Amino acid sequence: MSKFTRSLLFKIPYMLNCQEFEEFIDDYIDGRLPESVGRKVYLHLLACGDCRSYIAAYKRSIEMGKALCDKLDSEVPGDVPDELLSVVLKNIKRR
Ligand SMILES: [Zn+2]
Repeated sequence: MSKFTRSLLFKIPYMLNCQEFEEFIDDYIDGRLPESVGRKVYLHLLACGDCRSYIAAYKRSIEMGKALCDKLDSEVPGDVPDELLSVVLKNIKRR
């Protein structure tokens, strides 16, 4: 998109600026925005390369966080019986 087109887009009266855009990012990613707002956010994304890379980095960090949680969940089962734990601990101490 040319600089000229971009500057035109920013002249649209309901165009969000970057600050307003940031406030909507969470809801935008979760798809919780009403359509009218979602369209504004989308328009801003089209026009603003900064926010495009910002949202890409944001999504990546969310995915990394989720992946980390999944990993923790699968590696540390929440329902280990106490007896099993104490047996394991004893064995460790014996070494
Ligand atoms: Zn922006």
